[in-house]
Amino acid sequence: MFGVALVMVNNMPTKKETLLIKPHHFLDIIKLFGSGLDSFVPNLEYGHDFWKVGNEILENPNVQLELTLDNDAVCIPCKFSNGLICTGTTSADSKEIAKDVWNKLIDQRLLEILGLENGANFSALELCKRAKEKVNRESIFAVWKEKPVEITEKRANFLFLGIDKYLEKYK
Ligand code: SF4
Repeated sequence: MFGVALVMVNNMPTKKETLLIKPHHFLDIIKLFGSGLDSFVPNLEYGHDFWKVGNEILENPNVQLELTLDNDAVCIPCKFSNGLICTGTTSADSKEIAKDVWNKLIDQRLLEILGLENGANFSALELCKRAKEKVNRESIFAVWKEKPVEITEKRANFLFLGIDKYLEKYK
């Protein structure tokens, strides 16, 4: 499906024994944790595995993650995934663009801020610590600069709450 060997661990699609994840999906999970969600439920509209991956990360700080710019473990069952890329659309600067282009843009920016390369491996806890060290309010606004300020403001607030909550939970 990804052009690499895939196996299932606890019904979770992985590359080897590692969970493939886009950087922004990881931060979205931590952000929603910061907003007060302690567990996720399936999204019936998209059918993706955000809930499964999110619950695994929230429950298991040692789960091994491999960062990817391509479709990840969240995307596999999504109705917008054709395997390697996302076929959905989104808006940036009030214009419609391919979601795959947008995702790769923000994930490339996030990798630069985190000081990491595509394919980097970390446990969920290590990656959260890295985010605590490297990501600040200015960098969140730089990554999501094409999105409305009020949405990015909420994103930043909940993300920093989530990072601290996760690190406190697993210190
Ligand atoms: S395929 Fe696209 S819409 Fe579906 S989970 Fe992946 S990035 Fe999101």
